[in-house]
Amino acid sequence: MTTPLVFAASPLDRASHLRRDGAWLSAALESEASRFLPFHRLNVLVKAEKPELAWANPAIRSVMDARTGAVFLGLRDGLAHFAVDLSGLHDPVTELGLAGAASFADVRQVAASLPGADASIVAQGRQMLDWHARHRYCAVCGHATSVKEAGYLRECDECDAQHFPRTDPVVIMLVHAGARCLLGRQAGWPAKMWSALAGFVEAGETLEDAVRREVMEEAGIAVGDVRYHASQPWPFPSSLMIGCMAQALGDVITVDKTELEDARWFPRDTVLRALRDPASEPGFFVPPPMAIAHHLVKAWAEA
Ligand SMILES: [Zn+2]
Repeated sequence: MTTPLVFAASPLDRASHLRRDGAWLSAALESEASRFLPFHRLNVLVKAEKPELAWANPAIRSVMDARTGAVFLGLRDGLAHFAVDLSGLHDPVTELGLAGAASFADVRQVAASLPGADASIVAQGRQMLDWHARHRYCAVCGHATSVKEAGYLRECDECDAQHFPRTDPVVIMLVHAGARCLLGRQAGWPAKMWSALAGFVEAGETLEDAVRREVMEEAGIAVGDVRYHASQPWPFPSSLMIGCMAQALGDVITVDKTELEDARWFPRDTVLRALRDPASEPGFFVPPPMAIAHHLVKAWAEA
């Protein structure tokens, strides 16, 4: 893949061996050199003058959600980086005196504008804080859980059950047959946007099984060869998009109207025009480069 995917390629060293090092963690949480990325209700703090992350110093911990604590994200240039949840504040920008200097931005809106691979740091933080917010209580016995290992474990105060952050695998596949590819659209999408089919991997499935099942369910097309292409974290709230190329064995589409509004075969020439000059193909467009679907379609069309 030549174009880096948004949310991929983190510049941080996760340094997972440090999560259980209590002495190191205590020092890092207090160090003025450590950096803390504030989130408010899953929106991330960015600078006002340009789209850059607005890191805070350890003082921010006095207003963070103590039930989550500071989640260790990793090291960069030897400095510890953490995510903190300020969702308990009603109006954090005003309360922190940041008006005019920074604001909390919707991650979908700001991710593609962040420099370097900083969006991947946001993905990690957003996904971790969302997981903590949803796992205050033990799924085994219902009692409260407590944070351990710098945010990577919640342990039940009553039955000692351990709960770990989860990632939900999603297959997203560009189904192709010669010089045509299969794209679908959901009713709630922007008008004229068509994309690759996708679906969650279910229990006991391989990625290949999931690709074949989803394509059969949604479009009635049998799939043979399945090839992995690339993957992308998608922290809304905790998906990992696993991009595949899928060889169709048939061409008669039967759309499952509960999943899709429509599905169609698109000729390669039409797809190429839509990618290179969207204005020339007013009939349809594919998702923007922020989405792995864009890169799947592009890789197939330009192959
Ligand atoms: Zn329990």
